[in-house]
Amino acid sequence: MGVHIQLGDISAEVVRKDIKHLHLNVLPPMGKVRISAPRQMQLNTIRVFAISRLAWIKTEQRKMQAQPRETPRLFLTRESHYVWGKRYLLKRVEQDAAPSVELGHNQLVLRVRPGTDEVRCQEILDGWYREQIRQVAPALVHKWSPALAVEVARLFVQRMKTQWGSCNPVARNIRLNTELAKKPPECLEYIVVHEMVHLLEPSHNQRFTDLMDLHLPPWRHWRKALNELPVRHEDWAY
Ligand SMILES: [Zn+2]
Repeated sequence: MGVHIQLGDISAEVVRKDIKHLHLNVLPPMGKVRISAPRQMQLNTIRVFAISRLAWIKTEQRKMQAQPRETPRLFLTRESHYVWGKRYLLKRVEQDAAPSVELGHNQLVLRVRPGTDEVRCQEILDGWYREQIRQVAPALVHKWSPALAVEVARLFVQRMKTQWGSCNPVARNIRLNTELAKKPPECLEYIVVHEMVHLLEPSHNQRFTDLMDLHLPPWRHWRKALNELPVRHEDWAY
């Protein structure tokens, strides 16, 4: 957990790490600002650095916020929904039985009780997306463990607002965003590898980049794909 510094209307999270230099990142999807700083560095030095990068931060945030966004879902028949990067048309079936989701050829069939509202439909589909990731992510971890010589203690799949994945190098946990089940499968693999590499190298430094280049050469392509794809509609609060 970091502290936050305020730069005009922009809030930046400061995360202390065992590094020699400051790193400033603007994170997708919504342009959250994170500064990785050496443990002993004065907060004022960090603030001066951040202010010097303010124009760049604003440009990056504008780029991210200009990304196409999904319109709010109503969960009505013929609405588009994405599964593993492919578009499906929703078919809403109302019936007096436990809700279910089923993937057909070009259809995503959502069975709900009559009158089920959008919030509940969203929960049902989110649960289904989470399950899709749970079915494939452990095999990816298993595949990459020997190559990276890294053990993952626990894998979590949950809705995350500002990140595709995260990790805890101490507890050796990895968290994956449920939304990854909407993107091409290679995006999920990229995030799994990215987070596993973080267990070897917590910061996005040269060593991290070298490890990514060595093990997953096309990673930049998948990162770009993830950052370009429509992000979920949500009322983002900073
Ligand atoms: Zn990272």
